[in-house]
Amino acid sequence: MKTTIALSFALCFLIASFTAYYGDAGLQLSDIETDIESGSGAHFGRSNVNEFTYMLERDVNASICHWFHFKLENASGQEVTFRIANFDESLFGYNPRTRPVYSYDQENWSFIEDVRITNAFTFKQRFERDTVWIAAATPYKYSELEEYLGSIEGLPYVERESLGSSSDGHRIELLTITDQSIAPEGKQTIWITAGHHSSETSGMWVVKGLIDHVLSDPSLRRRYVWKINPMLNPDGVVEGYTRYDSDGCDLNREWDDGPGMEPEVAQVYEAMREWLDENETDLLADFHCSGSYRPFAIVVPEEYVYPEYGDRLESLLESIQEFTDYDGVERTTTQGTVRVESFDLWGVLSVTLEMSESSVTKEYCMGQGALMARSFDAFLAGES
Ligand SMILES: [Zn+2]
Repeated sequence: MKTTIALSFALCFLIASFTAYYGDAGLQLSDIETDIESGSGAHFGRSNVNEFTYMLERDVNASICHWFHFKLENASGQEVTFRIANFDESLFGYNPRTRPVYSYDQENWSFIEDVRITNAFTFKQRFERDTVWIAAATPYKYSELEEYLGSIEGLPYVERESLGSSSDGHRIELLTITDQSIAPEGKQTIWITAGHHSSETSGMWVVKGLIDHVLSDPSLRRRYVWKINPMLNPDGVVEGYTRYDSDGCDLNREWDDGPGMEPEVAQVYEAMREWLDENETDLLADFHCSGSYRPFAIVVPEEYVYPEYGDRLESLLESIQEFTDYDGVERTTTQGTVRVESFDLWGVLSVTLEMSESSVTKEYCMGQGALMARSFDAFLAGES
């Protein structure tokens, strides 16, 4: 009897010690929160002390996944390992050069350098503060955009309007930046779109840098009307989807759908069409990002366009390559993209610009945006 009690006691002690050491030690699943703005990263499991495995969440009605973004509490002094179990299904692909990011204030983001690929994509980081945000790439949140636009809308050369609402009721923003004292006939028009695909945040950061540069350079406002849709898919951004909107639609395949267009695209389409009733659009640039290591351009192929357009396109690409790091060109006629349809419908010179997805800081992207504004200026000034 005494032996049994002693054994039971020893066993309880062992279990308690094990639980204290391996079970309760370190971070718990309850320390991870994905229900945040732009949050994603479903099905977390705790595989060991401070080791978590999770699946990338899929978009609505789609197999597409890539984005993750979550908050971690009680992280100070903890070295934590995360494994993405289904990383090989990712839209862009996770590779040895992929660097997830973390931030203690959602403003300053650092790369996680300790990355390994085996049967999972694994990354490890020791944290210095209790609350930390972790993401596939630097988030560009809808609330961040709204705050930024609120801060510039009082400027005399900035007009901000909402073209309408997204399916979930978010604003579809259109900025017009120009020197109002000069009539539109004396200026050229550059139309910018970004954020068709919700997780392509580096493309949206490029456009943020472009806007800042246009705001800082009066000559760019005297010569041009800048029409800018900075986030076409706010629902996807808010919900933390990789590419699609809340209805499970790829907004950059919606431009040829006529009355069946998603509201986000229909509103921007209508604004473009209305502008063209009375004015010209000299250039349209649509900003995205991809898994490519280097930023590059996508254009409609020469055989698809009339020769005059082809010559202008080559000259535009030369200017982009001279001023920015965007290098290399892909030539496709993907139907339903704003690039192809704005040419087909209205003959507008159009280009898709793909920033790299990973290992680029938002500061780098914004710098590229400023240079992009200068490259457009050099191209159009050379034409006139
Ligand atoms: Zn895209």
